[in-house]
Amino acid sequence: MNLDTATLRVAFALVAFVLALLFYFAAYRSTRSAYSAWWCVALTLFLAGSAAYLLNGTAHQLWANPLGNFLLVAGAAAVWAGARSLGRARPRTWQLAAGPLATLVVSAADDPGANTWAGGPVFLAMMGLMIALASRELWQLEPGYSKVRIPMALAAAGVAGYYFLRLAVFLTEGPDGPVFRTYFGSGVTTLVTMVLLVVVSFSMAALSSEQQTRALRTVATRDSLTGLLNRAAFLELASDELQRLRRTRALGSLILADLDHFKEVNDTHGHAAGDVALQSFASACSSTVRSTDLVGRYGGEEFIFFLPGADAERAEAIAAEISGQLARAPAVGALRMPTVSYGIAAVGHGAADLKELIASADTALYRAKSLGRNRSVRGVHTP
Ligand code: GH3
Ligand code: MG
Ligand code: MG
Repeated sequence: MNLDTATLRVAFALVAFVLALLFYFAAYRSTRSAYSAWWCVALTLFLAGSAAYLLNGTAHQLWANPLGNFLLVAGAAAVWAGARSLGRARPRTWQLAAGPLATLVVSAADDPGANTWAGGPVFLAMMGLMIALASRELWQLEPGYSKVRIPMALAAAGVAGYYFLRLAVFLTEGPDGPVFRTYFGSGVTTLVTMVLLVVVSFSMAALSSEQQTRALRTVATRDSLTGLLNRAAFLELASDELQRLRRTRALGSLILADLDHFKEVNDTHGHAAGDVALQSFASACSSTVRSTDLVGRYGGEEFIFFLPGADAERAEAIAAEISGQLARAPAVGALRMPTVSYGIAAVGHGAADLKELIASADTALYRAKSLGRNRSVRGVHTP
């Protein structure tokens, strides 16, 4: 069977085009996830790149060949950027641009009018590198991510390996050597990549919808100003945690915190400054508590903590640490950070339910306010 490269490239371009369309309408338009957006970009670049190669052998080869190399490496860079977006890291523009631009420059300088493999080694190395980086990114996603990431990472590693092998054979026997022509030439590569595009697009759809689900979950459980848990999410998680503490008869504390004279902050410095103070308080909380502690915005300028394993004394120390951090927070203009009052309720043995704990902390908080603010007070039943 003799599959000629030009026919395969037309087929490839067609497949990439159909996939890009399908992906755009089926995945991106419905999920708007960053991952599917990058994948659409990648498919479009692959499509354009292989179309450019169709001009090889014509008078246009001079510019079309380096352009094709550039577009394909840019496509691979988009695959890498997509994989990175799953881990929420934003790729830097120069990182994305460096590979494709280097390929373009080297190809253009390597007699592209006469040499269809102009810049070949750099092109192969950059393709391998970009796809290997995508593979690493998928591999390092937190284990909570869908299992699809593992075969995807392996597939990407396989493609990267294939490109590095092509590079090695290209360097040893050149593009006209027998091994290169049989196993690593443009025809075989086009066929392999075509199959992979279909497989990857399919799995991509799964990952994209998962990315969207995660984003929605964040919106549903987090307070948008401070990034802390919102009230409903806090109550649900704390109530589970409380049940666990009771089963294991372990200690724990609940704290209600309320910023002092916060209305004055707003009245004097404006609502925007008030928001900054709330955010500073939230970051003081986040950097003080442990990862197993729960911190939520209970409402307005009131916050709530559930600290498993902490007795009242430890809860007081944590409250003092948070206030200390807030006091040390950099002043914003003329705004000095407000002080904070805390009410603490300890989870005793066979203790009350969450509602009663909150009520007890609230009474204690009220006393902290009436005793002059900027302090912690323990609830009546709290030893
Ligand atoms: P106290 O020491 O007794 O707690 O006095 P306070 O002024 O802090 O208490 P009060 O309940 O009178 O005022 C709370 C203020 O918090 C009023 C409200 O406008 C403000 N606030 C609530 N939510 C927000 C918010 O999201 N941003 C800003 N900037 N202010 C908020
Ligand atoms: Mg209040
Ligand atoms: Mg207040």
